[in-house]
Amino acid sequence: MFAILKARPEQGLSHADVESPKGPGPGEVEVAVSMAGVCGTDFHIWKWDEWSSRRVKPPMVVGHEFVGRIARVGEGVHHFSPGQRVSAECHVTCGHCRLCRTGRAHLCRETSIIGVDRTGAFAERVVVPAGNAWAVDDAIPDRHAAVFDPCGNAMHAATIVPLAGRDVLITGAGTIGLFSIGIARSHGARRVMVTEPSPYRARLARELGADLVVDPRAADTRAQILSMTDGQGPEIVLEMSGNAGALRSALEVASNGAHVVLLGLPGSDVTLDLAETVIMKGATLHGVTGRRMFGTWYDVSAFMLRNPEVMDRILTHRLAAQDYAEGFDLIAAGNCGKVILDFTGKAA
Ligand SMILES: [Zn+2]
Ligand SMILES: [Zn+2]
Repeated sequence: MFAILKARPEQGLSHADVESPKGPGPGEVEVAVSMAGVCGTDFHIWKWDEWSSRRVKPPMVVGHEFVGRIARVGEGVHHFSPGQRVSAECHVTCGHCRLCRTGRAHLCRETSIIGVDRTGAFAERVVVPAGNAWAVDDAIPDRHAAVFDPCGNAMHAATIVPLAGRDVLITGAGTIGLFSIGIARSHGARRVMVTEPSPYRARLARELGADLVVDPRAADTRAQILSMTDGQGPEIVLEMSGNAGALRSALEVASNGAHVVLLGLPGSDVTLDLAETVIMKGATLHGVTGRRMFGTWYDVSAFMLRNPEVMDRILTHRLAAQDYAEGFDLIAAGNCGKVILDFTGKAA
C-alpha cells in the first residue's frame, strides 16, 4: 500500500509501497484512511530536528490526524463494525496506571503516539486500538473530521478556564491558534486578541473574527492590547507559539490574576521574570498537552457541527496524498492554515 514515511534518519520524508497491515489484532480496528491532516509534529519529523531525531525510530510511517472507514475489526471488538467512519485519538495509553484510571489518560507516562512511536496514518490503512477510535457524526464532513486531533488540542487548552465574558489573548496563529480563535468566540469571550508575525496567518486570524490582530514585533503591540482591555490586560492567555519572547510579552501585558495556558512547545529553556510577571501578579500557569479522553472529543464534535464555516476557513489547502511534499513546503513558508492530504485516490 501507499505510505509516507521517515525512511532514514535524515531531513525529509519519502513515499513507498509498503506491506499492508496483516489485519487488526484483538481489540484493534483497521481503518481505510480517507483524509489526514499535516501537523506541526509531522513538520518537526520532516525537519528531523533534535526532538524528532531522538524520538522517532526509522523506518516509520508518519501521520496521526486522520479520518477513514473501518475495514476490519479484531477479535473482541463489539462497538465498531466495518464501514463505520472514525477518527482516532493518537495517544495510545496504558489504561492501567493511576493517571489512566483517574480520568487523566492524556498524561499517561506509557503513551505511544501514532505516527511517532508506532505506525502512522499517512497510508492507505492504519491499525489502532478500538478504544482510541472515535465514531464521527454523520453531519461532519471528512475534511473536518480529519483534524479532530489539533482542534482538540485547542479545545483542551481553551477550556481549562471558562472564557465567557473574558478578554483572551492568543499568542501565535498557527493552526491550533486559529482553532482557538473560533473556540474563544463560540465560547463567548469578550475580546479575542491575537499576536502573529506572519501576514498570511494574521489575515486568517482577522477573517476568523479576532477583534485585534497585531504583529508582536510592532512598537505599540502592548499599548494596543491594553487599550482594548480597559488598561487591565487580558485575563486569559493561550500561548500557542512556543516562542519565549511571546510568552514573556504575554505575561507582562496580562492582567493581575491572569490564567496563562501554555501549549506551544519552546525549543529550549525559557527565562521568565517570575517575581514581577507571575508571583506579584498572582498569575496561574497551566501546562496543557493532548486531549482529555474523551471529554475534549465530545466538545470538538459539537464545535465542528456548529461552526463548519470556521473549519473551512482554517483548512486552506487540500492536496492529493502523493503531493505531500508541496504541503510541507507550504508549512515551511508559513503560507497556509491547515493542510489536508486526500488518500481517497489511494484507498484500496
Ligand atoms: Zn497533530
Ligand atoms: Zn497509563
